[in-house]
Amino acid sequence: MKKVFLGFSGLRASSELRCTGGEHLFGGGKVSFFHILQSEALGLFNLFFPSSCLLCGTVHKKSTPKSFCTRCLDKIPPLLPPFCPRCALPYPAEEGSIHLCGECIREEPAFVSVYAAGIYEDVLRRAVHRFKFQGRSELDRPLARLLADKLLQAEDFSPELIVPVPLHPSRLRERTYNQALLLARCLGQMLEIPVVPRLLMRTRPTPSQQGLRAGERRLNQKGAFSLRGSMTGRRILLVDDVLTTGATIRECARVLQHGGALEIRVSVLARARRGASFSESD
Ligand SMILES: [Zn+2]
Ligand SMILES: [Zn+2]
Repeated sequence: MKKVFLGFSGLRASSELRCTGGEHLFGGGKVSFFHILQSEALGLFNLFFPSSCLLCGTVHKKSTPKSFCTRCLDKIPPLLPPFCPRCALPYPAEEGSIHLCGECIREEPAFVSVYAAGIYEDVLRRAVHRFKFQGRSELDRPLARLLADKLLQAEDFSPELIVPVPLHPSRLRERTYNQALLLARCLGQMLEIPVVPRLLMRTRPTPSQQGLRAGERRLNQKGAFSLRGSMTGRRILLVDDVLTTGATIRECARVLQHGGALEIRVSVLARARRGASFSESD
């Protein structure tokens, strides 16, 4: 069983080496002649082809290529308490005791908690839209890196398998890729946790969730997923890009729990506030 703990710097360093698209070329240890050559070559490459922020296009001044500039990173709205301890719904009040939201009281979710890289607003919302709807699949690693950093800080985080929220084949044909699967694969590499892509399947296409209220979204997703195989006793990390009303995630988690999963946690790039407007379904 694989466990990931906060502060396991060796794991963090090795995962960055493989999965940040060249953000960290050197992970410590002896510097070989090959490394020096690599560094020189990179310096020359950056001189002629300076890297730029994937969101705002600002050319990075430093020689170390990064996916996002510091200004964009600073604008990612953090998910800060108070929020629902189960579904991470942010509360409008800045202060208050920890308590479940109405939706989680009404129907206890099958998942234990939700990890998110930030709130679905501002720069994070734009990044998710580009990644999900504008064909910018190359955003998978840098966005997954944001999420992996959050997960590595979670003390009680110890999943055995990563399961992406599936797309129905008809939607996959339209979009050409499943953004949740891309994220899951990157997270799997970064955290060294196996990814199981075809365990959870969408058995019917669900109409767009746009404009539907929470109850209608729940009905929309009911019975839309099935499980291929047993999950008995397994700890699962369910991965998706955005959590809005949570209808999709709640239904996926319910199916996984029904299949015997011992513990289900959820990780998403962005957690939406209640009543957030969407141009596309979640
Ligand atoms: Zn930027
Ligand atoms: Zn909740």
